[in-house]
Amino acid sequence: MRMDVDQDLCISCGACIDVCPEVFQWNDDEKAHSTVDEVPAEYEDQAREAAEGCPTNAIKEV
Ligand code: SF4
Repeated sequence: MRMDVDQDLCISCGACIDVCPEVFQWNDDEKAHSTVDEVPAEYEDQAREAAEGCPTNAIKEV
């Protein structure tokens, strides 16, 4: 699985990075992005939790 962060929807709240820093980090625009092409199996649950917790639904599983 991959995770895509819609940069137009991200409000830089940091919640996804708190929940799953192994997958989500800040980029140069101070928005969240996925640092991995393929989410490692051991972090899939955390990555989905981060997506569900995003207040603007900016994170999509692709
Ligand atoms: S939880 Fe959503 S709005 Fe908050 S930093 Fe992550 S992608 Fe952006």
